[in-house]
Amino acid sequence: MNKFIFVSGGVCSSLGKGVAASSLGALLEGRGLNVRMVKCDPYINVDAGTMSPYQHGEVYVTDDGAETDLDLGNYARFTASPLSIANSITTGQVYKAVIEKEREGRYLGRCVQVIPHITDEIKSRILAAAKEDPDTDVVIVEIGGTVGDIESIPFLEAARQMIHESGKTNAISVHLTLIPEVAGGELKTKPTQHSVKAMQEMGIQPDVLICRAPVMLDEATRRKIALFCNVAPDAVFTSYNIDTTIYEIPIVFFDQKLDQVILSKMGVESRHAKLDPWYSMMDKFAARNGKVRIGIVGKYMELHDAYKSVYEALFHAGLECGVEVELVKIDSSGLEEKNSDAVLETIDGVLVPGGFGQRGINGMVKASAWARNNRIPYFGICLGMQIMVIDWGRNVLNWDDADSTEFNQDSKHPVVSLLEEQVDVKNYGGTMRLGKSETAAEEGTHIFAAYGEKHIWERHRHRYEFSNKYRKEMAESGLKIAALTPDGSLVECVEWPSDGADGHPWGLGVQFHPEFKSKPTAAAPLFRDFIAAARKRKAEN
Ligand code: GLN
Repeated sequence: MNKFIFVSGGVCSSLGKGVAASSLGALLEGRGLNVRMVKCDPYINVDAGTMSPYQHGEVYVTDDGAETDLDLGNYARFTASPLSIANSITTGQVYKAVIEKEREGRYLGRCVQVIPHITDEIKSRILAAAKEDPDTDVVIVEIGGTVGDIESIPFLEAARQMIHESGKTNAISVHLTLIPEVAGGELKTKPTQHSVKAMQEMGIQPDVLICRAPVMLDEATRRKIALFCNVAPDAVFTSYNIDTTIYEIPIVFFDQKLDQVILSKMGVESRHAKLDPWYSMMDKFAARNGKVRIGIVGKYMELHDAYKSVYEALFHAGLECGVEVELVKIDSSGLEEKNSDAVLETIDGVLVPGGFGQRGINGMVKASAWARNNRIPYFGICLGMQIMVIDWGRNVLNWDDADSTEFNQDSKHPVVSLLEEQVDVKNYGGTMRLGKSETAAEEGTHIFAAYGEKHIWERHRHRYEFSNKYRKEMAESGLKIAALTPDGSLVECVEWPSDGADGHPWGLGVQFHPEFKSKPTAAAPLFRDFIAAARKRKAEN
């Protein structure tokens, strides 16, 4: 029988609920349990795919091509939970399914209501996620939003029913709150008390509280919170501010015995904890020596979450290469202005991440040309690869109007164009080339060296593609076509020529998104080699 842990949040958003839930998952995996992570998102969008990165941060893509909330990225970085469409439940999906059933007449004339029909649909989706793998021991269900939000009510009600129906040891509630500090340095527990009251009004008594606080809460404060919130004194934990990395949080929780308390509440016999990968990752963190400055040239720079997985993957690569990676966020529109090169002169590597729409494209092309001419390591991801192709067309082949048809429909040299299968697509949601597929790497290329083999499986999310009619001219002029789909029909990777004395040290673009599979305990190969090249370049200068 599966156990369920419902993780909710109170007081305010952005307390790190996703990281807390993921860290708990990591700890339970360390105890030998098979964990599955599920995110419930109260928004009405069917998935995150149609949302602007400014609204909601990055869209995380799973193997099966689901466009999900970025919290699934946290799950992937902290745990081994398999992630698919089943692990991301939104209000939009739930209502869509219920309304479709209603139209099919499957409710047999009954009046269709939030309770029981919407809550039943939520419960059946959580159970389906649990059943995907018969060996699942624990399902951690993170409920998005903050208790008290109108939108989260159906999800909390579904959780209440599941706790009620499963019995106390089979489903528990973990509630994350904030302990603010007021003038004079005093820590205040009242918002936590109110937040737990709001949970109790929903019919859920939290079993465990994780309190976000500037410092570790002392025993007296924990006892006070326990008394007022009706939880056991040993079930109040602190997620205090740390100045290392979020990846230390599993250890922070372990030191407070969070996993032990949760296992005993669930009646699971405690097994020896194995957290070696987390400790050795922290050793690598402490052993980093020196710094490389990586310029990320993109368009959604103000919001850190917009390129979340890319930034995390750079950090992971730094761990593996023994250097700190300093992120230099460069708004590509700014590069379009005159005399804007100064910022590029200070960096050891350029990364152009994925993106959509025309704004800032010329600045990215400029960054590509600059890295190419100055032999600075360059890593292009999805749009970043298309930018390399446009740069090559405009600046090496001298086709001034070389462009992607995404940005200029009238170009005489559409070196990047709509995928054939996309021509008739009218609906924007879930219709790109999405998810995991195979890439075949050419021997003797950077990409082959990075993965150490020909067969590469990575995830995609795009509508446009290197135009095959330019393949010959591009290759003849020196651009390396380093990887294709196995049938040879699509270009998956291009590289700048690296042979000879004036060869470029490491310039590569891929049509897929390697950032989604990077972990703090195992950096994505291309990120690792990019940072290694940047480190080398810095040492040589
Ligand atoms: N806009 C480009 C396309 O659709 C790139 C997409 C991306 O970078 N994810 O092909």
